[in-house]
Amino acid sequence: MFFDRMDSNSRESRLIIAIQSQSAHFLELRGVKKEREVARKGKNMEWLESMPKVELHAHLNGSIRNSTLLELARNLGDEGDIEFSEVEHVILKDDRSLVEVFKLFDLIHVVTTDHEAITRITKEVIEDFASENVVYIELRTTPKRNDKIGMSKRSYMEAVMQGVKAVTTVDVCFSPQTEQLTSSCHSRPIHEPCNDDLRKKIYVRFLLSIDRRESAASAMETVDLALGMREMGVVGIDLSGNPTKGEWVTFIPALEYARKQGLKISLHCGEVPNRTEINGMLDFHPDRVGHACCLNDAEFECLKTLKIPVEICLTSNIRTGTISSIDIHHFADLHRDKHPMVLCTDDAGVFSTSLSGEYKIAASTFGIKREEVYRLASDAVHFIFADDGVKTELRNTFMAFIKQNLFSDCDH
Ligand SMILES: [Zn+2]
Repeated sequence: MFFDRMDSNSRESRLIIAIQSQSAHFLELRGVKKEREVARKGKNMEWLESMPKVELHAHLNGSIRNSTLLELARNLGDEGDIEFSEVEHVILKDDRSLVEVFKLFDLIHVVTTDHEAITRITKEVIEDFASENVVYIELRTTPKRNDKIGMSKRSYMEAVMQGVKAVTTVDVCFSPQTEQLTSSCHSRPIHEPCNDDLRKKIYVRFLLSIDRRESAASAMETVDLALGMREMGVVGIDLSGNPTKGEWVTFIPALEYARKQGLKISLHCGEVPNRTEINGMLDFHPDRVGHACCLNDAEFECLKTLKIPVEICLTSNIRTGTISSIDIHHFADLHRDKHPMVLCTDDAGVFSTSLSGEYKIAASTFGIKREEVYRLASDAVHFIFADDGVKTELRNTFMAFIKQNLFSDCDH
C-alpha cells in the first residue's frame, strides 16, 4: 500500500484514482465477496500457521494491532485531538470498505506521531509476526520529522529500535554485528528449545521508506540515516507514498547513492497505470518491486525478462481496488512462469490479514498443492536483503520443516 503521510487531499485523490480505474464500489464488493469465499475454502489449512514464513513487504505502522489502535485512538479522543466515536466502529470491524481503509490510514498517521507509540507498535508487530511463525521479516517505515514534539527522523528510528529491544516473548536477531559477535542468535537454530523453554526466534531487518511527497534533499537525508543504521539492521530503501503525488525522477539521485553505498532497493511500482514511471522504475532495475499491478503487457514482459522479484500483496490489492477480483490477480501468471516473487501482507492491521492468511488465499484461489506452497515460502529466502549467513540458516530451517512435514502429510 502506498500510504504513510496522509491528509484529506491524498485520500481524495486516491479515491478518485480507484473509482476511475476500477469502478471501485462494484468491483470492491465483488473482490471482498470473493475474498470471503476463499477464506471459507481455506478453513482447514491450519498447517500454514506452523509453516516458517518470510515477510518482505510490511509497513510497520499499517501492521498495528486493532486493540492498540483502539487504545491510542481513545486516548487521543480523551485529549480532544480526534472524535473517537467517528473511528471506533471502523477499528472494530474486519472487512473494511475502501473508504474505511483510508480512514484508518489517516488515523494511524495521527497516532504514530509520538515516540512512545512507535516503540510500542514496533514491539507488538514483531511479536505478532513471530507468533504465526514468521522467521524473518523486513519491516519498512518512513522516518518522520515533527518539530512540534521534538521528533527528528533519527529519534523516530531510535524509538523503533527501542521497540525491537523491548520484545520479550521471542528471541529477536536484528543486528548483523551482534549476530556475528554473540552466539545466542546464530548458534541456536530457529525453533529449537532454549533454556528449557520453546522460544521462537525471528530475524528482523528494516527498510527506510522515502515518501513520494518528500524533496530530493529529504530523501537523501533518509538514505544517510539508513547508512548510519546498518549495524542496527537497516538493509535497504523503499520508495512509497501516494503514487499520484511527486515524481519518481526526484528520488533517483538518492536511490542511486543508496545503491552505490551497498543498500538494497525496493520500489512500490505500478499501483497506478503511470507508463513513464513504470518504465523508468523497471529501467532502474531495483532489487525488488512491490505490487506491480498496473503493468501493461509490454511492461509485464519486461519485468519477467529482468527477473525482478515481486512482493505480492493479495488482500491489499483487492481491498484497495487495485485489482478487481482475486481470480484475475497477476499472481497466477507469475506463479505459472516461475517468476521470482514472495507473498506479503503490506498492512496486516489495516487489511485484517496475516501472512498465513495470504498463503491460505493463494493456495485456495489458485489450487496450489502443499509441496508447492512449501516451495513458494522457502523460495522467499532468495530475495531477502540480509547477508548470506542469515540466508543459510533460513534455508536450513525450511529444509528441516519440509523434511519433517512432507512425508507425514497425505491430504494433498
Ligand atoms: Zn506497501
